[in-house]
Amino acid sequence: MGGLYQKPDVLSSSIYKEPAPILDRENPFESMIERFNVAAEILELDPGFYEYLATPVHIHIVSIPVVMDSGRIKVFEGIRVIHNEVLGPSKGGIRYAPDVTIDEMKALAAWMTWKCAIIGVPFGGAKGGVKCDPRKLSIGELERLTRRYTADLVDVFGPDKDIPAPDMNTNEQIMAWVLDTYSMHARRTESAVVTGKPLILGGSQGRREATGRGVMIVTMAALERLHLRPSECTVAVQGFGNVGSVAARLLQEQGCKVVAVSDITGGYYNPDGLHIPDLIEYAEEHHRLLEGYPRAERITNEELLTLDVDILVPAAKENQITAENAPDVKARIIVEGANGPTTPEADEILNKKGTLIIPDILANAGGVTVSYFEWVQNRQGFYWTLDRVNRRLDRMMRTAFNNVYSATQKYNTSMRIGAYVIAVDKVASALRIRGIYA
Ligand code: NAD
Repeated sequence: MGGLYQKPDVLSSSIYKEPAPILDRENPFESMIERFNVAAEILELDPGFYEYLATPVHIHIVSIPVVMDSGRIKVFEGIRVIHNEVLGPSKGGIRYAPDVTIDEMKALAAWMTWKCAIIGVPFGGAKGGVKCDPRKLSIGELERLTRRYTADLVDVFGPDKDIPAPDMNTNEQIMAWVLDTYSMHARRTESAVVTGKPLILGGSQGRREATGRGVMIVTMAALERLHLRPSECTVAVQGFGNVGSVAARLLQEQGCKVVAVSDITGGYYNPDGLHIPDLIEYAEEHHRLLEGYPRAERITNEELLTLDVDILVPAAKENQITAENAPDVKARIIVEGANGPTTPEADEILNKKGTLIIPDILANAGGVTVSYFEWVQNRQGFYWTLDRVNRRLDRMMRTAFNNVYSATQKYNTSMRIGAYVIAVDKVASALRIRGIYA
């Protein structure tokens, strides 16, 4: 047993996030607007609505003074952008990074608005960040920075207003400090002000595997549409972290034959099917890496992406399927566990080939769905069993998949654009009914 106040774990990455895609760094907001534009055009969106939905409703900028360990005061810039709150309180992660910009926050907040609308959770979109290099901050400095950022935004955050979550370089411990600081100001414990909390502070069952489970659920929904049985399908999964390893295990449990997985150390292939629990155990014993795994043939990550499989799950990082390798990709279905794994050029090539791409904004929405469940449980003060969380996740992901699939057919477009059409239509319809307050 450790002491009463054990060293907080601030450096481990959170396994439960509301991460957003890496957008074009030159102009992230424009790169978000590009897809919004296509959807707006399909929907023949009124120009006034277009302008409203393209613009964030609030932008908060705060200067965060932190007393560093040296005794010197350093001031950091903190941002919170609320893109839209037509469907409900806004929701979105907080990231700590040296290159946080307002344009990036605006784009990512809008991306959260669309994601929440697609999955059917009653939230708008937000994003926050602090311009800092968390690796250069001590634990004490990180705690003071987090608490002051929260205190400065105490009137912005709130269970009915704006609910943050972990994103890049922020984790459960940081969310616990947000909860505590907000609660100190509110003079009561307010668990629902933040999601992605430690279980003991009101986190949800099932959250650890929520994103990977969501990937499995939409894959099963796609197989049903294509009249394919899981037992007839082979799968390759790129990335064996939180999302990839859970997706691989659950797809295997559904009867699919997972023939290849990979991580940063390369690919592992067995045409007769890999034993995923064995690989997970191996990775756990070897610093979360598959290097040296003996019961598979070694292949490169590049080879994995072009294997002759039915289902490809990119679950590592962005820009993996590009104009160079897309012509060689043989999978019939691509399920984007990662954010932005397919470049726009590759998207076009694959669409022409007839590959069904389940886009990131839908495929990896399991995390934000369980975030919503966490908020609901906090507000009910009643905590659900794992079984209940999983059943509800299944229902919401399937409904979202079916809605997007129908839009795709109705507008004869890709699932990616179909997803945006659903989102923009939903938010615009709610706005139309609410009207504009004079
Ligand atoms: P993670 O860090 O747990 O795992 C990433 C995995 O990818 C690791 O196995 C790593 O070795 C591997 N990898 C890294 N570079 C690689 C490369 N070049 N080739 C092959 N493998 C490589 O991360 P994660 O939480 O599983 O997230 C993976 C992706 O899913 C990211 O794009 C993330 O934004 C997205 N995502 C995650 C969540 C979540 O809840 N964790 C939710 C939505 C989206």
